[in-house]
Amino acid sequence: MIYFSNIVLGFRGFALRAGVTSLIFFFQACGGEVNLPASPSQKKLSLAASRPHFSSDSAYMWIKVQLGFGARIPGTPAHQACGDWLIAELQRRGARVYEQKGAYKGTPIRNIIGSFGSDTARPRVLLSAHWDSRPWADKDPQSPTMPVPGANDGASGVAVLLEVARHLAQAPLAYPVDIIFWDAEDMGREEVEDSYCLGSQYWLTNPQPHLPAAYAWGIHLDMVGGRQAVFPQEGHSRQYAPLIVERLWGVARELGYERVFVALPGEPITDDPYYLSSKGGIPMVNIIQRDPMGRGFFPEWHTVQDDIPVIDRSTLQAVGETLIAFLYSFSPQTLSPH
Ligand SMILES: [Zn+2]
Repeated sequence: MIYFSNIVLGFRGFALRAGVTSLIFFFQACGGEVNLPASPSQKKLSLAASRPHFSSDSAYMWIKVQLGFGARIPGTPAHQACGDWLIAELQRRGARVYEQKGAYKGTPIRNIIGSFGSDTARPRVLLSAHWDSRPWADKDPQSPTMPVPGANDGASGVAVLLEVARHLAQAPLAYPVDIIFWDAEDMGREEVEDSYCLGSQYWLTNPQPHLPAAYAWGIHLDMVGGRQAVFPQEGHSRQYAPLIVERLWGVARELGYERVFVALPGEPITDDPYYLSSKGGIPMVNIIQRDPMGRGFFPEWHTVQDDIPVIDRSTLQAVGETLIAFLYSFSPQTLSPH
């Protein structure tokens, strides 16, 4: 799904940093203590005492429902049915729902937007995930032409946001939040530039219902349900929204998830939030699973094995709980991205 934009330049420096990072990851993953120098971001954070409880059981169920539709490939009946269901679920949670339909680079696009809170208030916060699944399991040695079920790659992000949306309805935030499910994120080929993330690229050509400038910052979720998942601080997120990254990983640490949200630099990944930040000017953070030893995203990535057995409720809980605590403890008024 993604290629790394900095491979060409500082390979040696990059390799060195990657080596050290992997070593630290490895050490931490094995439960070892790595005494990293205490950075200013290690200060104690006060989190909102009353905040909703994130249910990983619900999120897990929403993954199963998406898988139940079959491969969510743009232009197919399964995709149509899942899209209709997502709209109904957002409406059921009290969102104003917008559908952005069109075509981009020859691919049909159906972006789904659910707005919570005032429609006119500014600044807003953007939460997003991609809802399509990859048509080809091109990393699968046995079945490279079969579709990817996409339990972790992309259904997990959608599921966590549906569970967050349930709470946005029951305990409204003091600021407006838009949840966007991007379409056609996973139709790309590594050798073709900008062939991934077609839904978010299309939205940037014709943003609705709000312009990019309406957003103070945003958080994107991709592959957030994998077993023993680790989320380093993705490179573009550190570049475009360093203070949001610092605060979000700080919240995870306060909740005891410092081994899941590992406060170490990760590679820059060209994904939906990269386009939103670099082209749309929205400071975005990407919470995306990354194998600590640099072996890609997760072992079953882009194979037919990316199915429900890959999903671990404790990872969903770590991501969902951290996101909820963050959203109910900070706001666009109290937290700027830089
Ligand atoms: Zn993918």
